[in-house]
Amino acid sequence: MVSLGAADAALMGLLGLLIGSFLNVVIHRLPKMMELQWERECAAMHASPGASEAATEEPPDFNLMTPRSRCPHCGHAIGWVENIPLVSYAVLRGRCRACSAPISLRYPAVELVTGLLFAWCGWQWGLTWEALAWAGFSAALVALTCIDWDTTLLPDDITLPLLWAGLCSSALNWTGVALGDAVWGAVGGYLSLWLVYWAFKLATGKEGMGYGDFKLFAGLGAWFGWQGLIPIILMASVIGAVIGIAIKLRGELREGGYLPFGPFLALGGLTAMVFGPQAILRTVGL
Ligand SMILES: [Zn+2]
Repeated sequence: MVSLGAADAALMGLLGLLIGSFLNVVIHRLPKMMELQWERECAAMHASPGASEAATEEPPDFNLMTPRSRCPHCGHAIGWVENIPLVSYAVLRGRCRACSAPISLRYPAVELVTGLLFAWCGWQWGLTWEALAWAGFSAALVALTCIDWDTTLLPDDITLPLLWAGLCSSALNWTGVALGDAVWGAVGGYLSLWLVYWAFKLATGKEGMGYGDFKLFAGLGAWFGWQGLIPIILMASVIGAVIGIAIKLRGELREGGYLPFGPFLALGGLTAMVFGPQAILRTVGL
């Protein structure tokens, strides 16, 4: 007989595959939506009063729902059979059905990772609000990791809900973190990186991070309490150093040698979810 834990994990895993498929759309479109918004705001600010007629022409809809997904190579509209998480990629052998252009491995990878994280939440907490809350936490961090890696942006549309959801989950007793600890976690997360940012900027004249990093770390503080901040920043630094050195050795460092910090913070947060912040401290001997 299949144990209840395994059934819960399987159900949550399936949900995770579907959410992962949606996250691919978010990762791809949210930065473009932000860019369009900025362009519109700039245009509105610079428009002379007489030219307002032409400027108010409605641009075509571009959001998470419309237009339908298309092959970036040939424009072939992607039908639902070609959009089944993991399965479609395997059946199509990673190529567009119309033009055979290769499909990025990123798509099935995001689906698989999200599915595994959701399955882990189902295994750990069963089909409960706790499991759903942590599944949502995982989905937000997967999206932020990819978006920050691609664009060095951490959208407020994800970091701020992550912070509020952490505080609410604490108030509802879903995270096992006292509400006071969660509030101080959020405050401490924001302020600590803000201080590092300014110290670094005053000392070197360079910007080592962005405000999105402060908000993301504040969000993680809300989910784990202030006690989680040090383990998570340690984990993020170790992962960042390892990946940074690997990229440097392979000569793949991008122009300016800049690596966004958000992905490593997010991976630190996911590590803390799976192993617990205290286990991270024990591992490094603290
Ligand atoms: Zn194509």
